[in-house]
Amino acid sequence: MLLSFLEWVLHLQSPLTWLFFILGAMMGSFYNVCIYRIPRRIFFAEARSICPSCGQPIPFWHNIPILSWIFLRGRARCCGARISVQYVLVEIITALLFPTVYWIFPFVMSWESGLVIDSPEMMRCFHALAFTSLLLICSVIDFEHQIIPDVLSIPMIVVTPLVVYLHPDLDWKSALFGVLIGGGSLYTVAWLYYLVRRDYGLGMGDVKLLAAIGGWLGYQSILTTVFWGSILGSLVGLGVIIFKRKLDLKIRLPFGPFLSIAAVSYLLFGQFLAEYLITF
Ligand SMILES: [Zn+2]
Repeated sequence: MLLSFLEWVLHLQSPLTWLFFILGAMMGSFYNVCIYRIPRRIFFAEARSICPSCGQPIPFWHNIPILSWIFLRGRARCCGARISVQYVLVEIITALLFPTVYWIFPFVMSWESGLVIDSPEMMRCFHALAFTSLLLICSVIDFEHQIIPDVLSIPMIVVTPLVVYLHPDLDWKSALFGVLIGGGSLYTVAWLYYLVRRDYGLGMGDVKLLAAIGGWLGYQSILTTVFWGSILGSLVGLGVIIFKRKLDLKIRLPFGPFLSIAAVSYLLFGQFLAEYLITF
């Protein structure tokens, strides 16, 4: 994964890198629509983009990913309302994520005879793109609303057999145990927490999210995901306490984004990190 300088240059020269960059920015724009509409239950309400502040339709040239936000200086042209930096951040993250995933699973190879598509690698690439995209949408919604919508997590669990069928490396036993161990372990933690504190520390959304992660990545991913997700969450929680300068034991941090970051790191950099830690 640590690419040499030459490999970086070769990758940046590849038109596919830029194609994935543009595709990522466009998909990021669509994910913003999902992030805005799914928790408000208006996903299918109106096809056209309207300003969330004044309700006026947004012309398409004010809707170009990343660029529009920069040119409009973060303000809506219609009414001058601030456009949240969250929108452009999601677009930048996906614009960088898509080529990165393609670099990790480069399925197009050029030979003297022309371009050759490595189909197992292509399935790994599409699987990683779908997985990271769904987790990004879940994370931003969880961050904003403290919920992980069932309309995202449950279909992710339900399509697990299809993921197993299409993915060249994932076997059905790993996926099945992934769903059971992923969902079961967090459910047990939530239940124990409830017995002790009579309060819901963990939401069922996190339980379903980890079941989905287990299904898509196999049970082997669960321990690493929960371990690093908890460490990351605790560190950020500690940071919030220090920043706010008061010890508030009732701070509610969403767990979904941290689980997602850990799971995506496991999928994209797990191989590299394992090798690095062994050789270190
Ligand atoms: Zn407006």
